[in-house]
Amino acid sequence: MSKCPKCEKELLFFEYQGIELLKCSDCSGFWFKDNKFREVKQIGFSGLAADVSPESRSESSSKLSSDKQEMMCPDCEELLIPYTYAYSSDIQLYRCTRCNGIWANSTDLAHIEKLLTGYKESLDEAKSKALPLMLKVKKQIQQEERAREGERKRGKKHGVFKRLFGQKRSKNHKVEDIFEDFHKNNHDES
Ligand SMILES: [Zn+2]
Ligand SMILES: [Zn+2]
Repeated sequence: MSKCPKCEKELLFFEYQGIELLKCSDCSGFWFKDNKFREVKQIGFSGLAADVSPESRSESSSKLSSDKQEMMCPDCEELLIPYTYAYSSDIQLYRCTRCNGIWANSTDLAHIEKLLTGYKESLDEAKSKALPLMLKVKKQIQQEERAREGERKRGKKHGVFKRLFGQKRSKNHKVEDIFEDFHKNNHDES
């Protein structure tokens, strides 16, 4: 039987979306074996997270747990190392360096979930802001392309005109040259 690293109560088997976890029967903390934490992160922590009202958000549970006594890995009894989730957040998780298990309580999971959804929302917001700009740029490019196409067509016409005209002229020129030569030759002969 595994014991909760925080309150030493029994850890109970807990299945979440097909992923096997252990949940403390008392403090509702979760033990994520191996890379289960990452697996759950893909799905989202909302099903595990405790309801966190905006008022209670400021008093993070990580503050409480940081004052706590040393916590031991429920699997290999190694000391759990506290680390800050996502570097800049004030969410603290505990990891076993031997088995890579992660201990997190449901309040911290709620904070992570909020962080993730906040990140997604800001990403969507950025996208929605960027979209009109992208369309504007696209329109501009299309307009420029159309203008260039028009120029090219006009240029082509001009080119064709010039070529026909030029060719005619050069033909005439040749004819004139021949006549001139003919006259010259005739003149010289006579
Ligand atoms: Zn517990
Ligand atoms: Zn361990």
